[in-house]
Amino acid sequence: MTDLAPKIEQLGRHLARYRRDGIMNLIGGETRPAASGKTFETRSPIDESLIAAVAESDAADIDAAAKAAKAAFRSWAATDGAKRKAILHRFADLIVARAEEIAILECWDTGQPYRFMSKAALRGAENFRFFADMAPSARDGRSLPAPGQLNITARHPIGPVGVITPWNTPFMLSTWKIAPALAAGCTVVHKPAEFSPLSARLLAEIALEAGLPAGVLNLVNGHGETAGKALTEHPDIAAIAFVGESRTGSMIMRQGAATLKRVHFELGGKNPVIVFDDADLDRALDAVVFMIYSLNGERCTSSSRLLVQDTIAEEFLARLAERVRKIRVGHPLDPATEVGPLIHKSHFDKVSSYVEIGKSEGAKLAEGGSRVGTEGFYFRPTLFTGASRLMRIAREEIFGPFLTSIEFRNEEEALSIANDVAYGLTGYVWTNDLTRALRFSNALEAGMIWVNSENVRHLPTPFGGVKASGIGRDGGDWSFEFYMEQKNISLATGRHAIPRLGA
Ligand code: NAD
Repeated sequence: MTDLAPKIEQLGRHLARYRRDGIMNLIGGETRPAASGKTFETRSPIDESLIAAVAESDAADIDAAAKAAKAAFRSWAATDGAKRKAILHRFADLIVARAEEIAILECWDTGQPYRFMSKAALRGAENFRFFADMAPSARDGRSLPAPGQLNITARHPIGPVGVITPWNTPFMLSTWKIAPALAAGCTVVHKPAEFSPLSARLLAEIALEAGLPAGVLNLVNGHGETAGKALTEHPDIAAIAFVGESRTGSMIMRQGAATLKRVHFELGGKNPVIVFDDADLDRALDAVVFMIYSLNGERCTSSSRLLVQDTIAEEFLARLAERVRKIRVGHPLDPATEVGPLIHKSHFDKVSSYVEIGKSEGAKLAEGGSRVGTEGFYFRPTLFTGASRLMRIAREEIFGPFLTSIEFRNEEEALSIANDVAYGLTGYVWTNDLTRALRFSNALEAGMIWVNSENVRHLPTPFGGVKASGIGRDGGDWSFEFYMEQKNISLATGRHAIPRLGA
């Protein structure tokens, strides 16, 4: 094990002010406690030690933040694209400058290993740079001439928006929502997850340092059922960008109905990785292991269902089990660690409960399935084999380092199993038959498919899911489609005859 002392020392320095001041809201450029004065505790999943007291906000705080976002909207929306671009690039520069701090705090708050969080912090900066460069052209429209009329379209930011984020990789996911919203000219009220509020506070501080005007990015901490709900119901909030569980998405739709909220949902998944017998099996094995056991398996795009062709199953699964056994579970701040503790006791209990469910359903526990140590929520990487499509471990999102393997005979059966779940976020196909890869991908019910690759993100491409995995797409111009409204201006280019009523 690496000597953790230098990182723990760094952590102590970064945490000191949060321990002292708590994790407070940022509304209209001011750091504020909840109006009620209430706080809740956030604890590290590593050792359950107290991180800080967090503002426990409610509808009153959301109202103040929504009003601040509304007051700042006109001016931010009218800010020249080049200026928005410059501010967002400064944002990115500051993230890069504080990437180590962000990574260390994120590890402590979420239990995610440093090896992934150090990259996630930098990806947050990339998100800002990418959308910063798009800010000057966000408004651009088209000219659509018609006989006697010239139609000119233009895009306008939709208004103040609410961004509600989950606890898995919270920093990266928040930037993924907030950067395009700001680039489009929207103002934002951000409600981060109650289990991992640290990096959202950091992001809000960076915003001020980057020169973002007060009220353009507001932070309100609190629980989903109170602060989150109030945000989705607020009349001044034009749209909600939400990342989280599918059933929370349904609730948000209901809550937002009265104020006709536009919604963008990135929800759960039970993503298949399909390995055909003609695939490059060494690469496929690496990808199968990486895509479920990285990020503690707390990853919406994780391939949590392995569909393996029966002709290669025995050997492939034996090699897989050996790899799973060797995965290094350990302290998240240790760069050698591959899997850290799960976010919270309640989540640990949920993930653990699927071990008994899998066994009682008749699948074989090939690896893992137990707690590691007695402190923190460490769960051994787990592999179930011999599952069938109707089992709960093959259908439900477990959201941990937990892989369920199912065998198939042929392409038709693989496709039918792959599509036989409520979700449709991603799919991963491993075959060296190009025609089959295209045919299969075309019929696979998922928003994003990778052929012969793990999940490699390219920011201009659309990101999102079908079925219970989401509504809408992020990435490239798709993000602006959500954060902006189209306007069409029709200009008469001649004196056409207007039908005369009552003449
Ligand atoms: P969650 O739905 O429990 O919570 C997400 C956020 O919603 C939190 O901030 C929470 O406080 C808030 N919330 C809860 N109830 C609310 C309500 N009634 N009104 C408004 N807000 C409310 O999700 P989670 O457990 O934090 O995150 C894990 C889930 O997120 C998994 O299902 C995972 O697949 C999904 N996820 C999806 C993507 C994607 O891109 N598709 C990415 C990451 C995570």
